[in-house]
Amino acid sequence: MERPIRSIFIVGGGTAGWLTAAIIAARHASGSGRGLEITLVESETIGIVGVGEGTWPTMRSTLKKVGISETDFFRECNASFKHGAKFARWVTGQASDFYYHPLMLPEGFPSFDLAPYWMKYSEGQRDAPSFSNAVCFQEAVCELGLAPKLITTPEYAGVANYAYHLDAGRFAAFVRDHCVQKLGIRHIVDDVTEVIRSDTGDIDAVQTRKSGRLGGDLFIDASGFRSLLLGETMGVPFVDRSDVLFIDRALAMQVPHDHEQSDIVPYTVSTAQKHGWIWDIGLQSRRGVGYVYSSNHTTADAALAELRAYVGDRHRHVQPREIKIACGHRQVFWKGNCVAVGLAGGFLEPLEASALVLIELSADMISTMLPATRETMPIVAGRYNRTTQYRWDRIIDFLKLHYILSRRTDSAFWIDNRAPTSIPDSLREQMELWRYRAPGDQDFTSNCEMFPAASYQYVLYGMGFRTDTRHQPLDRDIGGAKRAFAQNETLKARWTKTLPKNRDLIDKIKALGLQKI
Ligand SMILES: Cc1cc2nc3c(=O)[nH]c(=O)nc-3n(C[C@H](O)[C@H](O)[C@H](O)COP(=O)(O)OP(=O)(O)OC[C@H]3O[C@@H](n4cnc5c(N)ncnc54)[C@H](O)[C@@H]3O)c2cc1C
Repeated sequence: MERPIRSIFIVGGGTAGWLTAAIIAARHASGSGRGLEITLVESETIGIVGVGEGTWPTMRSTLKKVGISETDFFRECNASFKHGAKFARWVTGQASDFYYHPLMLPEGFPSFDLAPYWMKYSEGQRDAPSFSNAVCFQEAVCELGLAPKLITTPEYAGVANYAYHLDAGRFAAFVRDHCVQKLGIRHIVDDVTEVIRSDTGDIDAVQTRKSGRLGGDLFIDASGFRSLLLGETMGVPFVDRSDVLFIDRALAMQVPHDHEQSDIVPYTVSTAQKHGWIWDIGLQSRRGVGYVYSSNHTTADAALAELRAYVGDRHRHVQPREIKIACGHRQVFWKGNCVAVGLAGGFLEPLEASALVLIELSADMISTMLPATRETMPIVAGRYNRTTQYRWDRIIDFLKLHYILSRRTDSAFWIDNRAPTSIPDSLREQMELWRYRAPGDQDFTSNCEMFPAASYQYVLYGMGFRTDTRHQPLDRDIGGAKRAFAQNETLKARWTKTLPKNRDLIDKIKALGLQKI
């Protein structure tokens, strides 16, 4: 007899739980009374982690897809625009050392690859423009603190590709309200005290403190680091990846802007420290700042001193929150009738804000691949596990890239990070090829890649890596390259004059609203 999948039960009301609920409900018309039934339980005693503040441009399509207005999002979530990330002191550690990883592709990419031409023209020239500045106008816009669009640009559209910075606590509550009021999701505030399994090994139900026994056909574990369903109940082991990425602690704090109308920096600043790095994210009313470091390389007191030196004496009374980070992921992400999203599936240091995007991608996959029956679930689970594992591996490669190109020697943390034994084979192989040609789409052939070749170019060439272009026939296309470099300069001149300041645009959006598409 067929067992249809009619109900989904989610444990956890952090960003992972609510985003997943929204994405599935929006697709399966859960509010209509004819679609799937979705229930979400969240504890009243266990809070959410509440620190994920940097997103990817995918968040724009996610919010749009689930029916959220971008104007409301800016009004409710303390949000700001993000053009990408600026990495300071990662290469030499000097004050003047920085590079950008913007969110836009280089001019002409991928049909025309400017990287080898930039390499050729910049060779031996001390005042040559940086790679990202030569091929993309976003760095110039960032340095002036400008927004990626105009007040006349419709919701979710942009002049430049953009993502958001947001207040994680407010965001989870905002998505929750949308889920409950517009998408028909049943919300229960209660503690899960026991998870009950059937003879087949599937999860049958959860026992709660006040609401009794609650069940569903598919269980989504969004319970955070504890991984209550997949890890604790289904017994899926944790795969430790700290042999590659050493960060295992965070000190997170919130500090006010210098004054109420301070500029809001439109990119994430990631400043390398002696034993890790500090993130600095500007929201409308405050900054989120945190030091992620390796406890095998320094002590909590020394890390705190580094963080205090960064934020300055003015904020000496602000107490940071300490968060332990287990670097790695579950061995599988979907077992039986249980699938994990968010921290319940794993976590890596937040260097490229890859956690929320992975939640969006995972929820999207669950929603599009949702098995019609319990009998077909193992096929879906197998595919989900292979894709998700691939994604984790690619994120690990990309994060590690930032470390292996550093030339810092001021601590064992940086030196250990370049040890060949800590570099995954997949990344080592790519690095061999990129000695002779720039990263291109041919290096990333899966349809579930995480970072485009352009992102690798921005990090490699931003960090001073050189590709030997002698083996490439560049002469044929010199005219095309010159035109593309010139086009970038034209765009840079236009948009640095036209785009508004990040704060000015946000204030306007809050007052007037953006045009609906
Ligand atoms: C230091 C740090 C910085 C980060 N920065 C970024 C970033 O810039 N960008 C990014 O994309 N990501 C970032 N992340 C990751 C991001 O914060 C998380 O991926 C995201 O918040 C999702 O968390 P979650 O919903 O999985 O877990 P949580 O927020 O921990 O939510 C867990 C939920 O489960 C519930 N729960 C647990 N046990 C029970 C129980 N027994 N009964 C009922 N309910 C239960 C809790 O009540 C809670 O609602 C960062 C993480 C850390 C630690």
